[in-house]
Amino acid sequence: MTDAARRIAENVARVRGRIAEAAARAGRRPEAVQLIAVTKYVGLDEMRAVVAAGCAALGENRPQELERKAASLHDLPIQWHLIGHLQRNKVRRVLPLVAMIQSVDSPRVLEAVDRIAGELGRRAPVLLEVNVSGESQKTGLDPQDVEPLVETLERFPHVEPRGLMAMSSIEGGSDRVRADFAAVRELRDRIQKNCPDGVNLAELSMGMSGDFEVAVEEGATIVRIGSALFE
Ligand SMILES: *Cc1c(COP(=O)(O)O)cnc(C)c1O
Repeated sequence: MTDAARRIAENVARVRGRIAEAAARAGRRPEAVQLIAVTKYVGLDEMRAVVAAGCAALGENRPQELERKAASLHDLPIQWHLIGHLQRNKVRRVLPLVAMIQSVDSPRVLEAVDRIAGELGRRAPVLLEVNVSGESQKTGLDPQDVEPLVETLERFPHVEPRGLMAMSSIEGGSDRVRADFAAVRELRDRIQKNCPDGVNLAELSMGMSGDFEVAVEEGATIVRIGSALFE
């Protein structure tokens, strides 16, 4: 094992430990939180090392980068997650590669994913991305637009909505971060009650290197972590 691979394995173990402690503080089971390694800053060697360290769910935020890396690492059993904005003209190429699209941020993208998943004869697991902080530099649905969109889900039989994805505020400190994550969970709880039959929004993808423990305490089922794994 190279030094870099050893360091990554130690980071994975340390992050998993911190997730378990945060889960315990909230009376949750550590297995209820899935770790996604965000690999947008790193190359193929680091990606192989993180998979070897037991984390085979990888997240990329750019469709073209995901496609390139998936081709180079096709020998590994990776589950790919797209976590960044998806343009409609990229859906056809990305959909066959990914386990989940976490970043559905408009009705138009939802419609495109549904149509192309139908053409490919599959169902596409997705999360709806919410701009919970309201910061203009963030992508995602306005929180008040999520419920109306969920009410239309019956029209999209080829998407399998699994929950919500969000990022916390950049500004505002740790109270604001906790309030953002709690707001995402409360939004999910509220809309789950009025969901079309068969729609289960169980997943909450929230928490990055700087705030994942707070996210887990507030109910995250998926954390997306880059720098803390590769530093
Ligand atoms: C980059 C990125 C992450 C991981 O960020 P780190 O701070 O490096 O952990 C998580 N989610 C999204 C959407 C990202 O773009």
